[in-house]
Amino acid sequence: MIAPTPADRPNPGVAATPPTSGPPGPAPGSEALPPVPSPRTALRLGLLVCPLCRAVLRSPTGDTNPGRCPRCQSSLHPRKVASLERTWALILTALILYIPANLLPIMTVTRFGRSETSTILNGIQTLITMGLWPLAAIVFFASVVVPLLKLSVLAGLAFAAGRHSTWRPEERARLYRLVESVGHWSMVDVFLVAILAAVVDLGAIAAIEPEAGATYFGAVVVVTLFAAHSFDPRLTWDPLGAEA
Ligand SMILES: [Zn+2]
Repeated sequence: MIAPTPADRPNPGVAATPPTSGPPGPAPGSEALPPVPSPRTALRLGLLVCPLCRAVLRSPTGDTNPGRCPRCQSSLHPRKVASLERTWALILTALILYIPANLLPIMTVTRFGRSETSTILNGIQTLITMGLWPLAAIVFFASVVVPLLKLSVLAGLAFAAGRHSTWRPEERARLYRLVESVGHWSMVDVFLVAILAAVVDLGAIAAIEPEAGATYFGAVVVVTLFAAHSFDPRLTWDPLGAEA
């Protein structure tokens, strides 16, 4: 792990952004340092990266509408377009989808000719009565805890970014990384139902079939992934850059 730059370091911006042939930026360290080191950013230097061809370009006006890339004609934006609006819309969509995901049956378990359609919570109970404790724990964690946790964290991050908050940016960055890393594990419950349906197929003796609830769970996971992707984590640091 890279050691964090101490706050009392005299010139934190130079080490973080070694200039190659770029223009001289504002002298960092000439003003009072904020609590968190605030290195020079491309936005503050009036530079942009083309999202498609990765050309580094000078922003003609330095405002939010710098036009198009002269090389590949992609439209250029210093930050993701309507990042907070899209994040909020996707968070709300995921929350709405979360209701049928929990209310509708997620799977039908057939044991000895008796079919039992269950929602996610009933399904967890069924797994426990079948003695499958680890699976029940995985389904509960992946289906109930993780989606709500991810959506709450994203909502908190979007709320703080919308208010241009300078409150604990390092912790907020850590939370965003957590949401992104948890994203890889969110599909566990849907995979689990799919795997159970494929593996536990003994005809009339035992069978598990996925139901509509599983589809909604999949939709919640995908929409949450899009919400996390729509959020621009640089918005967390922009208010600090403006202060410095
Ligand atoms: Zn380009």
